Amino acid sequence: DKPSYKWRRVLLKVSGEALAGDHTQNIDPKITMAIAREVASVTRLGIEASLKPLLSFICSMTFLFSPLESSLNLVVVTKFPFSVLVVVLLQYHVELWVAIVVGGGNIFRGSSRAGCSGLDRSSADYIGMLATVMNAIFLQATMESIGIPTRVQTAFRMSEVAEPYIRRRAVRHLEKGRVVIFAAGTGNPFFTTDTAAALRCAEINAEVVLKATNVDGVYDDDPRRNPNARLHDTLTYHEVTSKDLSVMDMTAITLCQENNIPVVVFNLTKSGNIAKAIKGERVGTLIGG
Ligand code: UDP
Repeated sequence: DKPSYKWRRVLLKVSGEALAGDHTQNIDPKITMAIAREVASVTRLGIEASLKPLLSFICSMTFLFSPLESSLNLVVVTKFPFSVLVVVLLQYHVELWVAIVVGGGNIFRGSSRAGCSGLDRSSADYIGMLATVMNAIFLQATMESIGIPTRVQTAFRMSEVAEPYIRRRAVRHLEKGRVVIFAAGTGNPFFTTDTAAALRCAEINAEVVLKATNVDGVYDDDPRRNPNARLHDTLTYHEVTSKDLSVMDMTAITLCQENNIPVVVFNLTKSGNIAKAIKGERVGTLIGG
């Protein structure tokens, strides 16, 4: 069957907490590998990998037969079946890309550390942003270890380590089938990586923010304290803000609302959930208009 994907241009937000897995701090390599595998399976990379040998075979055959065709008038015999095959294959070819915004809360969260030993909020936030770069480099290395071409772009310059964020360049990478990981949040203190996710999503014209967390979605109460807490299937932006549900900070959710960006909050630790979310299957909570 032709794979059906609801979203073709996806912004995946991976929080630091999700990257930490069962550990309270740091990065769990099993989680980064699980993300890499799932992203590979749903993007062009996974689908194209199986088509590539066939497409190059078709191209070389077409090229090989062209001198013969003109002398023997064989165009219909050679090119026609090849062209039909290419058209059929392109039908099955899924143009889909995934960009990622990584958080840093597993390593350092500016808001909770500001004030300690005289650390001012801006400095604390810069440390937090640097933490996201560490996560991004780890995730990039994991992705590349299984053959996914990946670029990290940082919101402030660290040119020895990663590319600076350049919107057009990011889009070009994505169109070429590379995964782009956006690091260092928005580059400004007093913001969060959720806001960075909403911002980059709008900038690169992605269709959805998939917010990967450690819980199944948005509940009406804390499921860790209240076993009767109910999971919301859908929510409006207004419900999120008026009920003060802790999905995203206000700046991030407002940015999504203003730009009509749907947000899917889902559990990253359940295998197959990234693919499910992209396919539009029922997973987690969908927030929209
Ligand atoms: N941060 C920031 N500006 C941004 C994004 C992040 O100052 O645009 C800092 C902030 O200190 C934050 C930390 O980076 O606490 C890590 O980001 P966040 O808390 O959003 O990560 P997550 O909760 O997703 O792990």
